[in-house]
Amino acid sequence: MENVVKSDIKPFKMYENIYFAGSTRVSVHFIKTEEGLVMIDAGYPDMYEQILESMKELELNPKDICAIFHSHGHIDHFGCTEKFKELSGAKTYISRIDNDILNGTYNLSWAEELNYEILPFFNCDVLMEDGDVFTFGSTKIRVRLTPGHTDGTMSFFIEVPGEEKPIIAAMHGGIGMNSMTAEFLNRKGLSLDAREIFRKGLHALKDEHVDLFLGNHPQQNKTEEKLQAVLRGESIIDPDEWGRFLVWIEEVLDGMLEREKLN
Ligand SMILES: [Zn+2]
Repeated sequence: MENVVKSDIKPFKMYENIYFAGSTRVSVHFIKTEEGLVMIDAGYPDMYEQILESMKELELNPKDICAIFHSHGHIDHFGCTEKFKELSGAKTYISRIDNDILNGTYNLSWAEELNYEILPFFNCDVLMEDGDVFTFGSTKIRVRLTPGHTDGTMSFFIEVPGEEKPIIAAMHGGIGMNSMTAEFLNRKGLSLDAREIFRKGLHALKDEHVDLFLGNHPQQNKTEEKLQAVLRGESIIDPDEWGRFLVWIEEVLDGMLEREKLN
């Protein structure tokens, strides 16, 4: 019997041309454009079969992937990149800064911490800079450098055609406190400034108008609740969610800094 690896979150169409194909462990999104499928993040190394199965359910052809964007250089976001690139010939994108993790300059991928073997080193095809805009037919992806979680974390502002006018879907590129604790930064010989740089980035993003909030982990944007809403036929457009998220994550940051002071 065929061994099918299903995700623990049913793959679903979030909006018009935006699809979720990840799991509770990490998000993977696809944007269907006139130029092909744009993949946002490529999961852990052991998620390849699951992502393929999710794509099958969504009737998305993996050979149609034309671009793979990475929010940052941690192994849960680039684990299957090389496999999908080999399958589709897609161009790969990451910030110039975090490309140095993928090419082995810095050992900051979290492969060791998460008990994965370090993947063969590679360079992405396109090294993104703050403010770059990439166009795929009628979909535009604008990137903003939002360091902290890694030095080269990129947030995505994705303009897609809407029913009447275009909408903006957005993802913060990395919010996990695991790589911003004093313990981690000290162990890696990195500056503690990462935390205040991260905070500055959160403030800078407050002015962005976002209609649909995407998480690069599903807990950030309550992806499973969004799935249930979509199944009920409800819209998941919410122009206030982005602002609430930015406030919440700053509270999480403050909580961590407070706990460090007490220790
Ligand atoms: Zn990360």
